[in-house]
Amino acid sequence: MGGAAGQSGFASQIQEVGPRDGFQIIERFIPTEIKLETIDLLVKAGLSKIQITSFVSPKAVPQMSDAAEVTRVCLERYPDSLLFALVPNLRGARGAVEAGLREVAVVLSLSESHNKANVGKSVAESVEETKRIRETFPDLRIAQDIATAFGCPFEGKMELPPLMELIHQLSDIGIGEFTLCDTVGTAHPTQVKTVFETVGAAFPGAVFNVHIHDTRNMGMLNTYIAMKHGAKGLQSSAGGLGGCPFAPGASGNTATEDLVYMLREEGFDTGVDFGRLLDAARFLKRHVQGNYSGHHIMIEEQE
Ligand code: ZN
Repeated sequence: MGGAAGQSGFASQIQEVGPRDGFQIIERFIPTEIKLETIDLLVKAGLSKIQITSFVSPKAVPQMSDAAEVTRVCLERYPDSLLFALVPNLRGARGAVEAGLREVAVVLSLSESHNKANVGKSVAESVEETKRIRETFPDLRIAQDIATAFGCPFEGKMELPPLMELIHQLSDIGIGEFTLCDTVGTAHPTQVKTVFETVGAAFPGAVFNVHIHDTRNMGMLNTYIAMKHGAKGLQSSAGGLGGCPFAPGASGNTATEDLVYMLREEGFDTGVDFGRLLDAARFLKRHVQGNYSGHHIMIEEQE
């Protein structure tokens, strides 16, 4: 595999976020064993970087109340995998560190209204929170998730200058990795290209990842465009499960198996076994009732 179409090596990295982004919107509690079995299949398919859970208030997101248990088991089982969790604040970061994680994604939103709905703070307060996390855990690897980086369910299209300003502020407090999230799937290819080109040129030492929701059927294209313009981590979700409980109308992420299929056909060796990954997505669909946007699992249904 790899190089079939004459493409050079795969410079990006697929980051599976299904066990967090996919599961968080499922209302009915998914038994911890099902979560662990899903993660196991994803690891066996060759996904080396996985967002396994989030450390959030169990009152706000009861689905993630087993975060410490999921983390403990995964760290024990997969010492060689890059496992990380989403956290909204210092309290969450502390939970993640105490559970043994060495990397977190800290989330804030570019738009004030979504940040308020999602984490209950102003954007400035969230930047302060990231700073506290940075200072409290100097050895913790932090990627800053910037939700609604392209568009907001309440404020519409987001512009580049405030995004640049936010990245600037975060860089000043020592953050060097950013995940630009199209939380509600409104981004379009030219916008994605412009954003990645601009931030890449302005912050040459920083790492930028992409996280796209497929709400308007542009997930795959936008992810591909981001990759072509420097995105390192390509975040996606097995089965295309996903959404934001605090973003009305948000639907699933770009499906990991669809993304892996496309990249394989384009000649990139992602290190992921498409067949085994499809099995993982099928397992998920059998055991967790949800809104799946993945195309390969739909083909399966028709056959
Ligand atoms: Zn998401």
